[in-house]
Amino acid sequence: METMKNRPPLVLVVDDDVTARAIAREALEVAGFSVEEAGNGREALERARVQTPDIVLMDVVMPEMDGFAACAALRAERATRHVPVLMMTGLDDVASINRAYEAGATDFTTKPINYLLVAHRIRYILRAKITADELRASEARLANAQRIARLGHFEWELESGHVHCSPQVYRLFGIPADGSVTTNRDLLRFIHPRDRVQFAGELRSAVTTGMGYSLEHRIVRRDKTVRIMYQEGEIVRTPAGLAVSATLQDITERRNMERKVLKIANFDATTGLPNRQLMHRYLTESIAHARRNAGVVVVMAIDLDNFSRVNDTLGHGAGDALLKVVASRLGSCIRPCSAMGRVGEELQPDGDLLARTGGDEFTVVLTQLKELEDAAALARKMAESLAVPFSAGENEVSVNASIGISGFPADASDADVLLQQADTALHHAKNLGRNQWAFSSAAISRRVTDRFQLESDLRRALVAGQFELHYQPKVRTDDEMPHGTEALLRWRHPEKGLISPATFIPIAEETGLIVPISEWIVFEACRQVQEWQQAGLPPLRVAINVSSAQFRNSGLHLIVANAIAGTGIDPALVELELTESLLMEEGEASIRLMRRLRALGLWLSIDDFGTGYSSLSYLKRFPINALKIDRSFIMESANSHADGAIVAGIIALAHSLGLSVVAEGVETEKQMRLLRELKCDEVQGFYYSAPLPPRQFAAWLHDRLQPAMKAAASN
Ligand code: C2E
Ligand code: MG
Ligand code: MG
Repeated sequence: METMKNRPPLVLVVDDDVTARAIAREALEVAGFSVEEAGNGREALERARVQTPDIVLMDVVMPEMDGFAACAALRAERATRHVPVLMMTGLDDVASINRAYEAGATDFTTKPINYLLVAHRIRYILRAKITADELRASEARLANAQRIARLGHFEWELESGHVHCSPQVYRLFGIPADGSVTTNRDLLRFIHPRDRVQFAGELRSAVTTGMGYSLEHRIVRRDKTVRIMYQEGEIVRTPAGLAVSATLQDITERRNMERKVLKIANFDATTGLPNRQLMHRYLTESIAHARRNAGVVVVMAIDLDNFSRVNDTLGHGAGDALLKVVASRLGSCIRPCSAMGRVGEELQPDGDLLARTGGDEFTVVLTQLKELEDAAALARKMAESLAVPFSAGENEVSVNASIGISGFPADASDADVLLQQADTALHHAKNLGRNQWAFSSAAISRRVTDRFQLESDLRRALVAGQFELHYQPKVRTDDEMPHGTEALLRWRHPEKGLISPATFIPIAEETGLIVPISEWIVFEACRQVQEWQQAGLPPLRVAINVSSAQFRNSGLHLIVANAIAGTGIDPALVELELTESLLMEEGEASIRLMRRLRALGLWLSIDDFGTGYSSLSYLKRFPINALKIDRSFIMESANSHADGAIVAGIIALAHSLGLSVVAEGVETEKQMRLLRELKCDEVQGFYYSAPLPPRQFAAWLHDRLQPAMKAAASN
């Protein structure tokens, strides 16, 4: 912009009347202006191009180009767009005045001209122009600065939803600054769909609290590229009511750079895995979290036993490729936390973390296990995943991993100590040979090894014929005669001797071995009872225990049906004992399965009654024949009033539902008498007999029944 400070303002007088121009020049020069003249509109434009006037005094009617056309032409040119034009119209010529304004005139004055007044008018217009010029210049400077800073500004009138955006906002959105963003909807369209809710939330709280807000969010430009914005805003009062006044700054580059730096600082370049530093922070965070939530954190130190040989013989390229495969195989064994993939986010112990912590060392932090021991299964899975040979070019390479395991809270509560202990355990593992794992605590190692040993023994037990069924009589309280028996599973382990079902049934369930085992049990129990009957003993109902895994296996009723058909036993002599908790877990589904079983003609009873949490409404709906009162109530029933009352209550309840009642674990005569008094139907327990192997059980049965059988024979 030219200033007028050092020279007189230049007035361009445009008039086809030479005399009028001369008068104007005379008067204006006296008043301190310098004057240029033009005889018509076209000449005026030419002059203005040579030297931009500060103001134009324009006649209307002129040859070649009239005042309106000249005024419009001046407005269209960059240099003269803002030059004030004072039109000289005829008096009361309202039509001309209107046309003058339409053509862009600044003001008008009527002929004949009073130059004294016009000089004042011109000064006034020029003063206003200076202010306007300064404002425009400062806006231009601001816009320029905003463009350099990539800083956009917008104002959003909350009531009307109108939005005014600075040109830079358009540039940020990747669209021409054509004023097309006029409503809040237009604006929101560019905000990344996932960030809109957060943005709206910030605005809402800004409106309610009256405080400023700031947030980082993404925008999606018209060309679909995503950029990261920093937005800062406040609520302002405008003539149109409350409005959000906010700036928008593109910080994509800065964030990308930070990300890169973070990535280098926290991740291993070869495998892309977190490095030791990130692992350490995650471990510390996980321990703190586990301490608050009574959780468990497990550390595994993994070392590739023969990696350096690969590096030496096949080169570093092959070594790196191998490490990548190792990383992905190990990674597939865990449930990765979010820190594994995303850079620079808060560390949430929301999963497991696999880190590369040395040349051929990896560290795993596990946060999802219930017990430290559970890590053994994972260690085994990892070792197995690495056991498959790797192909390195034309070569096949196999690596072995040794794994050391430690855990919070069992071993230590400090990240460094835990890591140290995992390392120590790793050395133990290496000493054991290749592909081994070890816990930091020798006791846990032993327990876990034993458990694995038992598992592998159990896999062979069925084929090796190591299972037996023992039988315990159920005696009726009225005639003290055995009318039924419970088949109880025993495992005769070649070295460990008889193992209790309580020890191995859970393992059988976990490993799925329970299915073939239960098939064997059902068949064997039916066969045995059928055999006794054929040998001349009176019919006995045999009760078979069903675990939850067996029950859930939908093939149960087929197994039972097969056994009945295969052995020819009367289905009414087969009873299944289901536990209370099992039935509650399965709910409606269990009722359906029970109906199918009952349809085979079987008996069903609820075992260990009183220890689960049966709802009585279910009890009414279960299609069962009997309840077995849990041993814990019987134990004290004869001495404790409360237990006695519970037993009496259960018996009364069962009878009122039309169910038969069996008492388990009856050991004394006193208990037996009480149960008889309470009208318990049957009792079972050491008082009559412990569970016995088949032959001894048959002998016991024979002894017990002899008087009755003799009587029957003599009748
Ligand atoms: P359960 O079905 O409640 O079996 C009763 C348990 O109490 C048996 O233990 C039995 O030996 C014991 N017992 C019987 N009378 C007395 C007594 O007077 N005093 C005492 N203290 N104990 C007595 P066992 O044989 O060790 O079986 C334990 C549990 O293992 C059984 O509890 C049952 O839930 C499960 N089980 C046994 N055999 C099988 C089977 O074939 N399949 C399935 N799925 N589970 C079985
Ligand atoms: Mg039982
Ligand atoms: Mg029981």
